Amino acid sequence: MKAVRIHEYGGTEVLRFEDAPDPQAGVGEVVVKVKACALNHLDLWVRQGLPKAPALPHILGSDIAGEVVAVGPGVTGVALGTPVLLQPAVSCGICPACLAGKDNLCKEYGVIGAKTLGGNAEYVKVPQANLMPLPQGLSYTEAAAIPLVFLTAWHMLTDRAQLRPGEDVLVIGAGSGVGSAAVQIGKLLGARVIATASLDANLAKARELGADDTINHARQDIAEEVRKLTDRKGVEVVFEHVGPAVWDKCIAALAKAGRLVTCGATTGSTVQLNVTLLFGRQHSLFGSFMGTKSDLLEVLPFFSQKKLKPVVDSVFPLKETAAAHRRLESRAQFGKVVVVPE
Ligand code: ZN
Repeated sequence: MKAVRIHEYGGTEVLRFEDAPDPQAGVGEVVVKVKACALNHLDLWVRQGLPKAPALPHILGSDIAGEVVAVGPGVTGVALGTPVLLQPAVSCGICPACLAGKDNLCKEYGVIGAKTLGGNAEYVKVPQANLMPLPQGLSYTEAAAIPLVFLTAWHMLTDRAQLRPGEDVLVIGAGSGVGSAAVQIGKLLGARVIATASLDANLAKARELGADDTINHARQDIAEEVRKLTDRKGVEVVFEHVGPAVWDKCIAALAKAGRLVTCGATTGSTVQLNVTLLFGRQHSLFGSFMGTKSDLLEVLPFFSQKKLKPVVDSVFPLKETAAAHRRLESRAQFGKVVVVPE
């Protein structure tokens, strides 16, 4: 098959469009013909060899929609030709965490395209447990734009920060895939959404997705604007995935007893924490990583109901995956960058 593989870690020049072995379905596995695969910031980290470098050569790509073309021994009830959307992570399925429906706490947990070979290829093999029906009314490209960012944002706002109707939520970086998901989920849960972005065009798009208020974090002070918008109260919840570039302003934007939830650190890993502020204002900090299989099952029906929508920024042919990576690195995108085999 054709695939984009990396044989070393580095810049976009390490992405090679070339022939690779066809995947063979093992016990309990299926092979899916990839129709669309969305990129995530994770692809950039893995390409650079962070945080846990997979064996080489490697195929990136976690968010995959396609069609079942082969099933391995022990797979039952899966017809060839079935259109599917894939759960983006694998886990052991039998440990206490997995059996409690908290598979993202499993010791064996890993993301497709990071831990296993991914979807920047014509075919990918995954466990049968990762198959989900393609949501009705969505194209493969739209469906591929859903899994990782929506399950992550859903897990952050529901399971972790427990956003309530009527609360104010500050969504950092609404132009990113996870930010554009959080804006929509915040509205769905009945909160007032204040969204930030660095480009005015992306603030306008955030409003189209439902954001009530917007802040240009390149030229406005996030904490000051939040205080103005909330009559000095601050927001109950901050949705964060950027790290040091915005951290202090995010803490300053929190209301008393506010909760900050983070799933990423795209500008670096280390921040300063003012402990006096933490206990004095009774803040809570939540770390969140991916989400569970059941998070994705919970969130998918909202797409058929048109209450949530995938946000596709751009589509690139598989052989131009390097250009797709550069689009993501530009931070000018709004929503997901998707790669499709020709
Ligand atoms: Zn497990």
